[in-house]
Order: sequence, then structure tokens, then C-alpha cells
Amino acid sequence: MNDCIFCKIARGEIPGKKVYEDEELFAFHDINPVAPVHFMLIPKLHVASLMEVDNSHAALLGKMLVLAPKLAKEQGLNNGFRTVINTGKGGGQEVFHLHIHIIGGGNIPPMVRRD
Ligand code: 5GP
Ligand code: ZN
Repeated sequence: MNDCIFCKIARGEIPGKKVYEDEELFAFHDINPVAPVHFMLIPKLHVASLMEVDNSHAALLGKMLVLAPKLAKEQGLNNGFRTVINTGKGGGQEVFHLHIHIIGGGNIPPMVRRD
């Protein structure tokens, strides 16, 4: 057991609006969405961030990327979507359990503001 909030959501210990679940992966809506559709895809395995991955995670990461467009389409994002992985403090990561944000359905701004 650990205190990670995303592990707890995946275990059903704290509420989350589930989008998808299988043996290895879990997806749920972001509590503070930045667009009409905003959910996160996570491995059930606790991996703190993309900084911590190695070759042993290659299949799992591949599975996540293959699943992302399928779930996005199921959520109505037939016209495209944005995937974001914030990594470490330097990447603006706030929850230290690896997650892919899947975002769309609205007016998606440029990825990085140039000002
Ligand atoms: P990060 O900045 O780490 O890439 O993104 C963390 C995301 O998790 C944020 O978009 C935030 O809104 C979301 N989040 C934080 N706590 C919770 C929670 O308890 N439940 C859900 N569903 N999302 C959360
Ligand atoms: Zn975790």
C-alpha cells in the first residue's frame, strides 16, 4: 500500500470518474479539466514519472499509447486530441504517478505560449 493519490483512485479507494480499466491500465477524468474532455491514462503499477522508466516498462508504455486514441475516440474526440506527459518538477508535474493527459473537444491553444 502507498499514499499515492492515483494509486488510490486506481484501487477504488477514493472516487474517480472511470473511463477505462484493464489488468494493467486505468483511465479517469481529471478533477479540474482544462477542456470539455480531459482524462488521464495511468499504469496501475506505481511509476513516479517518465524519468523513472526503463526497458522493463517498454511494453506497458506502448500499450498506453496504443490505447490513448481508442479511448479518445470513445470520448468523442474524433477530430483529434492532445496528449501531455508532465515529467518532474521541471516539467510541471504535480502528481508523481506517471500519467498521460488526454485533452480535447474545445479550442485547444498552442502547446507552448511564445511570449
Ligand atoms: P500533472 O500536473 O501532475 O501532470 O497533472 C495532475 C493532474 O491531476 C491535474 O490536472 C489535476 O487536476 C489532476 N488531479 C489532481 N488530484 C486529482 C484527484 O484527486 N482526482 C482527479 N480525478 N484528478 C486529480
Ligand atoms: Zn501511484
